[in-house]
Amino acid sequence: MSVTGKDSYDDNNIFARILRGEIPCNKIYEDDFALAFHDIHPQAPVHALVIPKGRYISLADFGATASNAEIAGYIRATALVASQLGVEESGYRAIANCGLNSHQEVPHFHTHIMGGRPLGRMLAP
Ligand code: AMP
Repeated sequence: MSVTGKDSYDDNNIFARILRGEIPCNKIYEDDFALAFHDIHPQAPVHALVIPKGRYISLADFGATASNAEIAGYIRATALVASQLGVEESGYRAIANCGLNSHQEVPHFHTHIMGGRPLGRMLAP
């Protein structure tokens, strides 16, 4: 998977299809910069995904090639979604898998928001 470069963005990835409205999602929030929806296989009582609206493969791609407005809008939306999900006070984890070692499965940049119970240490031993 290339870190940047629109030639390698897969327009048929599942999140691109959700953005185009070709397949449904359980939507939480949407604005000009981001769409948030519940993960289809939740790994915590709260497990949401926040995706930028642009064609970005990974955090590396987003950080290197998105505009300042897109980056600011996306980060603001991510924090807002956590607040709307009611986990701000109890705490939550925001994770962006990036590339092979992270086990990123969907090649459209996204942040997982997980919470609703104590999550333990960051990685299994
Ligand atoms: P990652 O491994 O970081 O790429 O995470 C991809 C996430 O997308 C996984 O947690 C999946 O459960 C989730 N996922 C895959 N397809 C869908 C879908 N159609 N709707 C919601 N979540 C999905």
